[in-house]
Amino acid sequence: MGAPYLIVENLTKRFGAITALQDISLSMQAGEFVCFLGPSGCGKTTLLRAIAGLDIQTEGRVIQGGTDVSVLAPQQRDFGIVFQSYALFPNLSVAKNIAFGLKNAGWPRARITARVDELLELVGLSDHADKFPARISGGQQQRVALARAIAISPGLLLLDEPLSALDARVRRHLRGEIKSLQRRLGVSTIMVTHDQEEALAMADRIVVMNMGIIEQIGTPQEIYSRPASAFVAKFIGAMNLLPAQCCPSDEPECCTVTVGSTDLVAHMHGRIGSGPVQIAVRPEDIRVKDDGNHGGARNHLTLEIRRFEFMGNFYRATLTGGDLGPASLEADFSTNMVRRMRLEQGRALSVELPVDHLHVFPAEPVSG
Ligand code: ATP
Repeated sequence: MGAPYLIVENLTKRFGAITALQDISLSMQAGEFVCFLGPSGCGKTTLLRAIAGLDIQTEGRVIQGGTDVSVLAPQQRDFGIVFQSYALFPNLSVAKNIAFGLKNAGWPRARITARVDELLELVGLSDHADKFPARISGGQQQRVALARAIAISPGLLLLDEPLSALDARVRRHLRGEIKSLQRRLGVSTIMVTHDQEEALAMADRIVVMNMGIIEQIGTPQEIYSRPASAFVAKFIGAMNLLPAQCCPSDEPECCTVTVGSTDLVAHMHGRIGSGPVQIAVRPEDIRVKDDGNHGGARNHLTLEIRRFEFMGNFYRATLTGGDLGPASLEADFSTNMVRRMRLEQGRALSVELPVDHLHVFPAEPVSG
């Protein structure tokens, strides 16, 4: 791997008494598609704006393409940006909107015309060149904004919730288009989103943020299968979280956790001391033992289907029982399996919580 294209170093941003970003550090390679993902107010837009120079950081540095751009004005930096609200000029045609930056950059007219034609083709809007923004759909307007942002072939493409104003169908379609355009152009891209599905589907790597800090950076697969904190585990996908007690285990990177009356072996990410913890397992990772006979094998529980919901392509079961104490678990079962095993409400089940899919996190701090 070569030197990173973008480095954010110990970045802090304060708005008066509010600390929006706290000592953020990350780097990305040229051509990568990185998503900043997190709930409202976690600081993802502030971080994007600091990288663009639209909001200068209080402390820390931004290095792009080997140059320290930390104090440069936005117009001196090398990026194109797309906002949630399209931000097109309503009184300019589609073609003129796209040409705007090229004109400002002093390109000769013939070159502008050729480039605009190329961009219109790239985003599939050649037939709409002379229309005004109000005459085209939201999805088309966002394509114009995208064409405008990449017109001068910037080193960095910044997308600030570009899809959230669109309806679900258009959003899914445009998401695929943006991703393949990004791949084709090879442009380093950062997208801000609060939509986990969008981030999982589009990003090479995801930066999960919470309250001004980074909780985890990783590929979508890493973030999903090895969440680094209870926050990430809860924020991405569905996750059961149960209070438990932890004690050391002889096995490397494992610990024994007691939930209800049952001892389970779980995989530990990092160091966790003995005492109260939370254990986490995804509903789709809970396995049903076909024969019901677990012969004392580890991480098996005998539970009952307390509630059973048909979700269309799978069933979600709420499992309770003596082995768990007062806690319950949600488990997802395929329609095929439900049919094959004749699963129904009230049925007793032998389930396994696989060691590799059972995560341990520190206990939630007691509030108040
Ligand atoms: P959203 O998805 O709602 O936009 P976000 O994760 O992008 O959320 P930011 O907009 O970056 O979050 O805001 C982070 C924190 O900084 C919030 O507490 C917000 O209120 C605060 N903040 C952001 N901009 C300003 C500003 N210009 N003045 C004061 N506080 C601000």
